[in-house]
Amino acid sequence: MPNIQDKITALREELRQHNYNYYVLDNATISDYDFDIKLKELQQLEEEHPEFFDANSPTQRVGGEITKKFETVTHKNRMYSLDNSYSKEDLFDWEKRIQKMLGVEQIEYTCELKYDGASINLTYENGELKRAVTRGDGFQGDDVTANIKTIKSIPLKLKGNSIADFEIRGEIILPLDGFNKMNKERIEAGEDPYRNPRNTASGSLKLQDSAEVANRPLDCLLYHVVANRLPLNTHYEALENAKKAGFKIPNTLKIANSIDAVFDFINHWDTERHQLPYETDGVVIKVNSLAHQDELGYTSKAPRWAIAYKYKAEQKSTILKSISYQVGRTGAITPVANLEPIELAGTIVKRASLHNADQIEKLDIRVNDTVFVEKGGEIIPKVVGVDLTKRPQDSVQTQYISICPDCETVLERKEGDAKHYCPNEYGCPTQITGRIQHFISRKAMDIDGLGAETVELLFKENLITNYADLYDLKVEQIIPLERMAERSAQNMVEGIEASKQIPFEKVLFGLGIRFVGETVAKKLAKHFKSIDNLMRASFEELIAVDEIGDRIAESIVDFSNNLVNIQLIDRLKSYGVQLQLSAEVLENQTDTLQGKIFVVSGVFAKMSRNELKKSIEDNGGKVSSSISKKTTYIIAGDNMGPSKRIKAEELKIPIISEDDYLKML
Ligand code: AMP
Ligand code: ZN
Repeated sequence: MPNIQDKITALREELRQHNYNYYVLDNATISDYDFDIKLKELQQLEEEHPEFFDANSPTQRVGGEITKKFETVTHKNRMYSLDNSYSKEDLFDWEKRIQKMLGVEQIEYTCELKYDGASINLTYENGELKRAVTRGDGFQGDDVTANIKTIKSIPLKLKGNSIADFEIRGEIILPLDGFNKMNKERIEAGEDPYRNPRNTASGSLKLQDSAEVANRPLDCLLYHVVANRLPLNTHYEALENAKKAGFKIPNTLKIANSIDAVFDFINHWDTERHQLPYETDGVVIKVNSLAHQDELGYTSKAPRWAIAYKYKAEQKSTILKSISYQVGRTGAITPVANLEPIELAGTIVKRASLHNADQIEKLDIRVNDTVFVEKGGEIIPKVVGVDLTKRPQDSVQTQYISICPDCETVLERKEGDAKHYCPNEYGCPTQITGRIQHFISRKAMDIDGLGAETVELLFKENLITNYADLYDLKVEQIIPLERMAERSAQNMVEGIEASKQIPFEKVLFGLGIRFVGETVAKKLAKHFKSIDNLMRASFEELIAVDEIGDRIAESIVDFSNNLVNIQLIDRLKSYGVQLQLSAEVLENQTDTLQGKIFVVSGVFAKMSRNELKKSIEDNGGKVSSSISKKTTYIIAGDNMGPSKRIKAEELKIPIISEDDYLKML
């Protein structure tokens, strides 16, 4: 009798290879029918022999696992964004900057297409897929492993002996064919079609039922291997190795020896990209040498060793049927164009942004005009002009609204502001619900079991008129509402209760003070340490904080002087919402490094580079990415960049080790 375990292993191996042939190489060597037979056989054997279960077996790709809430995971290595360029000059400028930093003339580049989807970070351990996390805010993302496993071109087990542990990054995309097919089915079923492949791909990652994800024709194209010490010298080699291990790396990847060669690549794909099976909005150019990459490092947002080149947006003309006006959370009015639907850059466009009153007046946009619509990098297309030759005889000039479409208050417009605002901050329904919706959103209080629509319902039923009211909600009040059951009411109240643990910086962001975004909230929380200190701060004290300008300071002062807000904050305090930094955070923060500027270079033994940077900032120091006369110390790890060392010696800046630094604390 053949050994069952061997049989299972052999079947898994065979199916894995077929998956690879079909989904990565696009070259099937077996019929779908035969594949299914073998898969069923394996399924059966696995069922009969649960002792041989393997989470990465090909049978696991059909999905079925339900994720109620995606776990938030902190990225080991931050996921950065990319700087953009739009012309050859931009690229020459970029080259000049990096030539100077590296102290070399000749730089080798790689050119890749910029795949338009959702980025994903895959972690492999011992050659097996361990975890898949979305980019999120770059620092933290969602664990979507169960969904990712259903994407057949992502290897669950790697071929050959690869490096033991590494992360690889890529883009989850929805190829156009698959997207159109999905939409055709939706239209036939009487549902609204999806707007575009990119959003549909990223939305797919967050579906709760992985079996549903398995049914979507998603694909994954890889573009970056992150390993702490790669036994390799170039980005190109890293990708070639990844390809050998079974990852899908498009053949469009090329090496270029000059910006001119880069530009040839860009020009070629400017027209050819429309033949590709998926969407691309540009090209990504990277410095090929990993040592150079390491030396160039990152700005606060993006790697210095890479740049994206964005293609010009596509334009089309269509009829403007009507203009509607939307009220935002801050009362800002946004005019929206309702269009005769057109297909633009692979998506169906029905609505477009009209920006503001000035824009409408400047372009003299009128209802029934034939307008030019453009779709750039942003999700919402915009109206960029009018075809005057097609203007109907009886056309009338657009009269911008003067009262709020929601609460009928007379709109205001401040000197220098492009937008009209509804000043009825505490009475305008959209502003009230908008503020509460912002408060509960993921990046703020992250309240489970409560969504945007429920907020509207609770408001309509007079159960809440501000975010503090949430904390008074009782299960008995919620149950009688439409579509509510005891279970969901319970969940909501528990979610609200749990939000009392959310750290101060997020609460501060959630308060929705105009111009206080996530980053500003973090800065303010760190500097003022509590809401009381912040609300007591004068305009002068506020602008003295790094990166806090007049506009932000003014808005905070306005907020703090408003009686309604003072009462709301008092209530939040009484419920136990975190309105100051926790003792734990405070304990880890000192002023020991006040006034000192550090440059960090190389690889460290005790902390990751990010941990080291965080530690410097927590202790009052500043981190700078390039060496200058102002630098106080350079903390050098293994493989410090040679040009950095030379520069440090030239400027006589002390180079210290990780241990020296730790002693300093
Ligand atoms: P952006 O979102 O415009 O800042 O662009 C950065 C994003 O481009 C990254 O997060 C990736 O998800 C995506 N991207 C697509 N193709 C590539 C590529 N070939 N190399 C690097 N990033 C890419
Ligand atoms: Zn209003």
